[in-house]
Amino acid sequence: MKVTVTSAWRGPRPAAVAVRDWPVWSLPRLARAYVIAVPVAAAIALGVAADRATWHVSQLGIFFLLLASAAAMVEAAKDVKLPPDTLTRDLQEVWWLSVALLLPPVYALLMPVPLVLMKQWRVRRNLWHRRLFSMGAIGLGYGAASVEFHSVFEPLLGVPPGAGAHSAGWLGAIIAAAVTGWAVNVWLVVGAVKLTVPAARVRAMMFSREAVTTDAVETCFAALVAFALSCTPAVLIVAVPVVLVQKRFLMHSQLVAEARTDAKTGLLNAAAWHRESATELSRAKGSWSPASAAIIDIDHFKLVNDTHGHLAGDRVLRVVADRFKAQLREGDLIGRFGGEEFAILLPRTTGLEAERVAERLRGHIADAPIAVSGGRDEPILVRITVSIGVAELASARQDLDELLAAADAALYQAKDAGRNRIRVVTAELAGAQVPAPRGPGPAAAAPQ
Ligand code: GH3
Ligand code: MG
Ligand code: MG
Repeated sequence: MKVTVTSAWRGPRPAAVAVRDWPVWSLPRLARAYVIAVPVAAAIALGVAADRATWHVSQLGIFFLLLASAAAMVEAAKDVKLPPDTLTRDLQEVWWLSVALLLPPVYALLMPVPLVLMKQWRVRRNLWHRRLFSMGAIGLGYGAASVEFHSVFEPLLGVPPGAGAHSAGWLGAIIAAAVTGWAVNVWLVVGAVKLTVPAARVRAMMFSREAVTTDAVETCFAALVAFALSCTPAVLIVAVPVVLVQKRFLMHSQLVAEARTDAKTGLLNAAAWHRESATELSRAKGSWSPASAAIIDIDHFKLVNDTHGHLAGDRVLRVVADRFKAQLREGDLIGRFGGEEFAILLPRTTGLEAERVAERLRGHIADAPIAVSGGRDEPILVRITVSIGVAELASARQDLDELLAAADAALYQAKDAGRNRIRVVTAELAGAQVPAPRGPGPAAAAPQ
C-alpha cells in the first residue's frame, strides 16, 4: 500500500491504519515471517559491514560509477514491460558482481537499495514488501559473494589479476563468487515464491531450457565484465554499451518466449500453436509421414467455475495442462486453444496411435481428481473429464485448418455421445462416416 504524506495528515490515526492494511499481513504466517526476515537480515548485515568498513574516496568513486552504470541500464530498458511475475533476467547481476568483487562487502549490501527504489519509481510500482524483499535477497546474495571473494580467494591470489595461471585462477574465483551471488539471491526468491504461492511451478521457472540458458549467459557475462573491471575500472567506458546491447538481446529472447506461451497454463498459445503446427504439418506432408491432431475440451467446465470459483477453475486448467504435457513426447505440440480447450499436433503418428495417446490423456484426467484448495484450507477434490476429437492427416493436400475441422467435428460427436470419450476420424474415414464413440460407457462428467 502506498502511504503518502498528504493521506497521513487526513485520518484520525492514519499511520496505524496504513500499517494494519499492508498487504504483507495477508500472507500465510510462514511466508510473512520469511518475507520480513530476509530484508531484516540484510539490514543487520549492512549495519555490521558498515561498522567494519573504512571508507575511501576512491572506493566511493568506483561505487558511484558502477551504480550509475546500473541505473543507466534500468532507465534504458524501462519501457520493456514483462509480465509482473516473471523472474526477469535483466543483467543487473553484472553490476552487483562487479561491486561485490571490486569493493568491500558493505557496498554489495548497499547497492540494491537505490537500484530497487529506482525500479519502483521509474519502471513499475510493485508491493513494497516485494521490493524490500528483493533488496534483501540481492544484498545477501552478493554480500555473501563479496565476503567469499575477499576472505577466501583474494588472500590466496593477491590483486590484481596477473598473467597466465594467475589470471586463470582469478577468473575461477570470480566465477565461484558469481555462482554464490546468483544461488543465494535466486534461491531466497524461490523460497518466497513457494511459500506465498504453493502452486507456483518453480521447476518450470528455474529449470526450463530457456531459464537455464539465460542464467548461464548472464552469469558468464557478469564474470567476464567483473574480470575486465578488476584489471582496471576504466573498462567501464567500453563495458556499459556492450552490457546494454546484451541486455536488450536477453530481453528480446525473453519476450519472444513470453509471446509464444499461454500465461495461465504454460502451454503454447493459440497463435504460436497454429504457426508451429502448420510448419510441422508441411514437414510431415513433404516427407510422406503420418500426422494427427486432437482437440480436447473439458466437460462441463462451467460447472467447476460455478461450484468452486474461477480461481479453482484456473488451477484445474493448469493441472490438466501439466498432465497432458507429462504424457506427450518431445516433438508433440500442445497449445491452449480457447478457454478450456486444448489442441495437440502429433507428428509421425497415425490415427490409430493418436487414438491410443488420446485414450491415455482421457484416462489421466478421469482417473485422478484435482485438488483445488488455496492457502490453509482443506483441499477440495474436483473430478473432471475430457472429450477428445482426433483426426488423421488424410492427404498431402489437406491443410491444418481442414485437419482441425475434422478433429473438431469428432469432438462434437464425442460430446453428443455423452462426453468423457474419444472420437477418431482416420484418413480412410475423413469425409465419410465417423466411427462409434470410444471410452468407458455413458459416464456422467459433472464435477463433484
Ligand atoms: P461442455 O461439456 O459442453 O464443454 O460444457 P462446458 O461447461 O465446459 O462449456 P461452456 O462452453 O458452456 O463453458 C466453458 C466455460 O469455461 C465457461 C467459462 O467461464 C470457462 N472458462 C473459459 N476460460 C476460462 C479460464 O481461463 N479460467 C476459468 N476458470 N474458466 C474459464
Ligand atoms: Mg469449450
Ligand atoms: Mg467444455
